Amino acid sequence: MSRQNAQILFPVNVPGAFDYSVPEPMRVERGDFVFAPIGKQMKLGIVMGTKADETGRDLKDIAEIKSTRPLPDPILDFIEWVARYNVASPGQVLRMVLRSWKALDPSPIATLYEPTGDRPLNLTPARRAALTKGGPFPARASEIASRARISSGVIKGMVKVGLMRADERPVDPPYDEPDPELPGRDLSDAQTAAADELVTQVRKDRFSVSLLDGVTGSGKTEVYFEAVAEALRQGRQVMILVPEIALTQAGLSRFGARFGAEPVAWHSSITDMARRRAWREVASGRAKLVVGARSALFLPFANLGLIVVDEEHDTSFKQEEGVIYNARDMAVLRGRLEDRPVILASATPSLESLHNARTGRYAHVVLPERPGAITLPDIGLIDMKSHKPEAGSFLSGPMVQAVAERLSRGEQSLLYMNRRGYAPLILCRVCGERLKSPDTDSWLVEHRATGRAMCHLTGFSMRMPRTCPKCGAEDGLTSIGPGVERIADEAQTHFPQARVEILSSDTTATPDEIKARLGRMERGEIDILVGTQMVVKGHNFPRLTFVGVVDGDLLMGGADPRAGERTYQTLVQVAGRAGRADMAGEAFIQTHHPEHEALQALVAGDRNMFVGVEMEMREMLGLPPFGRIAAVIFWGPDLKKTQKLAKDFVTKAPRTDGIEILGPSEAPIARLRGLYRQRLFIRAEPGVDLSKYMTAWRTKIRPPAKYKIQIDIDPQSF
Ligand code: ADP
Repeated sequence: MSRQNAQILFPVNVPGAFDYSVPEPMRVERGDFVFAPIGKQMKLGIVMGTKADETGRDLKDIAEIKSTRPLPDPILDFIEWVARYNVASPGQVLRMVLRSWKALDPSPIATLYEPTGDRPLNLTPARRAALTKGGPFPARASEIASRARISSGVIKGMVKVGLMRADERPVDPPYDEPDPELPGRDLSDAQTAAADELVTQVRKDRFSVSLLDGVTGSGKTEVYFEAVAEALRQGRQVMILVPEIALTQAGLSRFGARFGAEPVAWHSSITDMARRRAWREVASGRAKLVVGARSALFLPFANLGLIVVDEEHDTSFKQEEGVIYNARDMAVLRGRLEDRPVILASATPSLESLHNARTGRYAHVVLPERPGAITLPDIGLIDMKSHKPEAGSFLSGPMVQAVAERLSRGEQSLLYMNRRGYAPLILCRVCGERLKSPDTDSWLVEHRATGRAMCHLTGFSMRMPRTCPKCGAEDGLTSIGPGVERIADEAQTHFPQARVEILSSDTTATPDEIKARLGRMERGEIDILVGTQMVVKGHNFPRLTFVGVVDGDLLMGGADPRAGERTYQTLVQVAGRAGRADMAGEAFIQTHHPEHEALQALVAGDRNMFVGVEMEMREMLGLPPFGRIAAVIFWGPDLKKTQKLAKDFVTKAPRTDGIEILGPSEAPIARLRGLYRQRLFIRAEPGVDLSKYMTAWRTKIRPPAKYKIQIDIDPQSF
């Protein structure tokens, strides 16, 4: 056999894999974990490929094989594809895959010993101690030895004479197996038809995408459970991606109830230990049902059978830092590489997914409203031009009236306010100073609950000052605009007897607190819940009959071409909360623009009308799904030089038809963490390989130290 060369990819930000030689008698294969020298360090990397060494080049040797339980092929392909698509380095993507690579260390498999049951009379005292005091079995030799106060050599000797059995076993106790045969709910005819379609796709056992489309409460979850059951029946693993905010215990318990075993949860706040265990159980194929946030995409499933993306339109699927990617799109890519079916579920599918369904690329599985259920609530628009609240108040007369009616009937209200904190702006009435976050172009948000002024972008926080930091005025500082806390205060002032609580990512930082609050809401122990989008998914509040959207305009702001879509999606979902109840629900939306088409479509309950208007606009402007967009963000410590970097970048643009460059201009957050930000948009006609184009372009320019060029394929915010 000739000497082997291997291409090793390290989890670092370099353009690709490096060649190494494999010292005899070592052999490696694609997917193996190895240690190899890079610079002065020894680093863990993955073998991406091997070939016979023909060139006789003088390459560095691989130092050591770390594990020969290789990463499966599809995830290696996935790493390369995600990097290519998002114009990132494969090493950065590998870093996401290996986030818990320490899962391999200590080895996931240990030799565990247990008695064979054979027990002759003439046992030596040490051997007897091993059997009587060494348990519980099975256990590692070292554990048995220390419990029985003997040397581990004794145990190994016992294996030789047939008193103990040694087995290679996973160190962790396995997760409880989900049971696909447990009965689900009795499905309606329409639900059964939809479930059958999905199950058929799972049976075909190859790549397909189904868009499961039905209003909130129509039973989408119950329906995709049937597809999940089918994949489990085949002995395969299932990955379910949900928005981070839906990963509450209550959300997970629903899977537990359906399949008799809690799913494996994967999200940013699980402990390192849970993470390692999950990682290795997924890699071994033993973890069957994984419910996770977007990062679950990068788990090395050994035997994936189905991917579900629930709430596929949700913006939290977009990762905005490091490798910028959209988990929904990457889930479809993963499905293609694994050659397995993908289900995208939503009550308000993204225009991209609807377009794919309309053009036949995705199967469109539509669920009608749940029989017997109340459909969407009545939605009323409150024109704030004619219902102006007093200065410093934000709830109009009709809104207050609607809440009062619910209170008198013992029903619940939800006031939806998509802004954390008390007030988004702190202003000095004396000198006009606005409190800004240091090094960042954003206002400090007042948080009364904690008495702090915080920057939501950088995490900067300081004690709320009593005097103006600029002019020193004693009573100068005043709060401008509403956040959830302020709306809660106002509601409490209107209704001193009411039980008012806030649900936002500040107050519900711990999963336990989320659970507790949602539990109180479900049990009717809260009269008025004031919340950010955190309330949007996952719970059933039977006594909730009124939803008030405090600021419907917040969702349409500025020059964002997706604002209409977002407005519609958010309001449908929020309004849909009330629709779940068996009581008639009602929703009010406060707005200065009641004529806005999206709001009109909402009031009419006419999604087709909304989608039609929106698609027309997108097509006219060449926006997705009719063309593709990338954004390039330039970061740097000096404004002029950052602008120049952006302009130089533009001059290096490769010449291609079907590409239009817009900018550079100031990015929406023109300064962040002490760095200036300039932004460029690239619009590509259909058929142009935008990722390839951007990669070619990107490699032409190397930003100077401290400067950064970041590419965002299909940006979500404008
Ligand atoms: P979606 O995911 O579309 O919002 P869900 O699957 O969560 O809808 O269903 C909404 C509620 O209705 C849940 O409490 C669910 O258990 C219940 N439900 C849906 N379909 C049925 C059914 N066929 N029989 C009984 N309950 C159902």
